[in-house]
Amino acid sequence: MNRVLVPLQMDGAMPLLGARVQQLDGQTMGTTWQVRWVGQGNGPQSQQAEAVRVAVQGVLDLVVAQMSTWLPGSDLDRFNRAGAGSRHVLPEAMADVLDAALWLAQVSGGAFNPAAGALVNAWGFGPSPRYTDPGFAPPDSEAVQLALARQDWRRLRWDRTKREAQQPGGLLLDFSAIAKGHAVDLVSRRLAAIGIGHTLVEVGGELRGQGLRPDGQPWWVDLETPPTCAGQAPLPTTRVALHGLCVATSGDYRRVYTHGGQRLPHTLDPRHGQPVSHGLASVSVVHTECLWADAWSTALTVLGVQDGLALARAHGVAALFVQREADGRFTETLSPAMEALAE
Ligand code: AMP
Ligand code: MG
Repeated sequence: MNRVLVPLQMDGAMPLLGARVQQLDGQTMGTTWQVRWVGQGNGPQSQQAEAVRVAVQGVLDLVVAQMSTWLPGSDLDRFNRAGAGSRHVLPEAMADVLDAALWLAQVSGGAFNPAAGALVNAWGFGPSPRYTDPGFAPPDSEAVQLALARQDWRRLRWDRTKREAQQPGGLLLDFSAIAKGHAVDLVSRRLAAIGIGHTLVEVGGELRGQGLRPDGQPWWVDLETPPTCAGQAPLPTTRVALHGLCVATSGDYRRVYTHGGQRLPHTLDPRHGQPVSHGLASVSVVHTECLWADAWSTALTVLGVQDGLALARAHGVAALFVQREADGRFTETLSPAMEALAE
């Protein structure tokens, strides 16, 4: 292990001595979830485990029903299909996500764009067509221009107090870069609300840790690193104590295809309509809210090391950038807030 990140504050929670770490997992959002908690009972059949399963799956199903681009009839899908001028009162969690996403779109100069759905579809990363479909071809420049013309988030009228969003016509929301993180926060809070406060919640690689393990240790997690080629020196390991902290990683190696020798990852730069190509292999963000860890990691991936570092510094965001250099080696860059956690 080469680097250890620890929170700047402890929340004063006492460990549940003598209790055991329990674990459950399942499927959601085209990926997996896993929850660990400190509790009584013995194994996945216990009454408490059943209560945890119901609570977790209930929250995740709710997020999918609201914010999935993949579920026909979700609130997001209905907004996307609705006619110009129609008004939609959004459910609370979706309103929170939209509000955060619009703010980040603004401060990132459109690098993060919650209305990039048309572009995501054009590049084959939406429900249809899929880049994995036989005969799928990336969009030509005309198709990219058409998608760009449909992604201006500033056309969306948003009344936060009424939670009312107006479809300006043809705008396709896509919350895939932020909703998973929010789902992690909501699961963690739901468990706390039913009296389970020492938890490690994970959905598709995004994590949130609260409280302590029974031995008084925080939840230790190693950050995800990009895969290395054969013979290449492994990247340093970064181990983080998730005590009142979350971590999310966006990587260019997860959902990616190649065309004409070019890597086309699923993170798109909405400013010119192409998949990101500046060689950032991954960005991990540590934050007290997983919604923000998730959203920032995507935004910084689009911006690249130089601009991303400047924005992370300006907003005190703890970020670790892993850049794939021309010779295949990786170099790491830490934002000042991330350096502070490493001290
Ligand atoms: P993540 O894995 O959190 O980085 O999210 C990636 C997903 O977010 C993609 O599969 C797209 O659905 C969507 N997406 C891609 N580019 C952007 C962007 N620039 N801003 C917001 N969402 C995006
Ligand atoms: Mg994200």
